[in-house]
Amino acid sequence: MEGFRALPSVDQFLNGADGAGLVARHGRHAVREALRARLDEMRDAIRAGEAGQILAARLPRLIAADLEARARSRLRPMLNLTGTVLHTNLGRAILADEAVRAAVTAMANPLALEFDLESGGRGQRDDHLRGLLIELTGAEDATIVNNNAAAVLIALNTLAGTGPDRREALVSRGELIEIGGAFRMPDIMARAGAKLVEIGTTNRTHPRDYEDAITAATGVILKVHTSNYRIEGFTAEVAAPDLARIAKAAGVPLMNDLGAGSLVDLSHYGLRREPTVSEAVAEGADLVTFSGDKLLGGPQAGFIVGRRDLIQAINRNPLKRALRLDKIRIAALEATLKLYRDPDRLAERLPVLRMLARPAGEIAAQAARLAPRIDAILRPLGFAAAPCTCESQIGSGALPVDTIPSAGLRLTGTGGDAPDRLAAMLRGLAQPVIGHIRDGALILDLRCLQDDAALTNALAQL
Ligand SMILES: *Cc1c(COP(=O)(O)O)cnc(C)c1O
Repeated sequence: MEGFRALPSVDQFLNGADGAGLVARHGRHAVREALRARLDEMRDAIRAGEAGQILAARLPRLIAADLEARARSRLRPMLNLTGTVLHTNLGRAILADEAVRAAVTAMANPLALEFDLESGGRGQRDDHLRGLLIELTGAEDATIVNNNAAAVLIALNTLAGTGPDRREALVSRGELIEIGGAFRMPDIMARAGAKLVEIGTTNRTHPRDYEDAITAATGVILKVHTSNYRIEGFTAEVAAPDLARIAKAAGVPLMNDLGAGSLVDLSHYGLRREPTVSEAVAEGADLVTFSGDKLLGGPQAGFIVGRRDLIQAINRNPLKRALRLDKIRIAALEATLKLYRDPDRLAERLPVLRMLARPAGEIAAQAARLAPRIDAILRPLGFAAAPCTCESQIGSGALPVDTIPSAGLRLTGTGGDAPDRLAAMLRGLAQPVIGHIRDGALILDLRCLQDDAALTNALAQL
């Protein structure tokens, strides 16, 4: 057919001006593949009666767009304007500059990960964090694994899941939690090899319930911070210090899974108090487990702090090797933990705390400043922006019922599907912007927006 001649051959295109630029950027192989796919499509279109000249003129732009789309990462940075500061699906904590620098250095250089610089002999990879964790929590000893789920797994396995007779782990029925992402306490216990013994009832558990259940087969009493829900009304739980007394009297270790586990008292930053790790240690727990990437504000990791003999037993468990951390995260964690040595500047330097501590008034001023600029960008597209108040959440299970007053932008448009359409457009940006839909509008909570230009630049691409 006549129209086919308007299309270039693969070699003509690759050697032409458009092709050369694309080859320099994406490589010959990728350009050839993209070209073949488009040329096949265009030949079909010509057979269906379209004009070859017009199609050929579109070719360079189409190929460039195909290749750009393919090169673009789904892991590109985005703006978390959901209002949930520690959003598990968006990667939880963003790290302090100090931690980012330490991670980059660790990635690009050899370092003394398991090497003792004084003696020249072998060192321990956990030692870089052990001392800091002991210093910051008041615990006797500490060990580190891949995440807090792994911390719970290896601790239970060590205390109750190994040896010929599996031992029992006692947990209150009110604390048999499921956290998102398929972490269910009963399942973890089963995989750890521990026999679950449920204590008390869903809403009420008393000291005598634990006392009656302790036998020679008891390996551990587990307390779980019910971090993502709250039981209210006619309730009773046994406080950690009382549980510690019961455990001690029976000679059974008490483990307290804190989950988010803050190292500082959040009430200093205008937030509701969460139990701190040092409090849990001081209350008599033999082991305390918590996450690295929740309130602590570091990379993904799981910490176990507590009694030296138990920590040493955990370190001897072969699972430890399977759950160990790499040098990048160890370096980032060391830098993050060191920030806690200077509490006065912590909220300035640790992004999680800085965002959580931002006063609502400051965020409202930012919303008022940004609303007209965002409105001007959205108007031509049929949408509007206005400042609004909203409620942020810590996220990742910390203080789930409590919200933090915040402010943001309320984006609206005509038609019932306007919020969904706009949300999809914002997800497709070079720097995706993620909000949440409420009452027929797309809400952008500005608590986590570090500077105004980041949002105006991202939306300017619309
Ligand atoms: C979040 C959480 C975990 C799991 O921690 P990860 O670091 O996400 O593995 C375990 N227990 C509790 C109570 C939690 O809140």
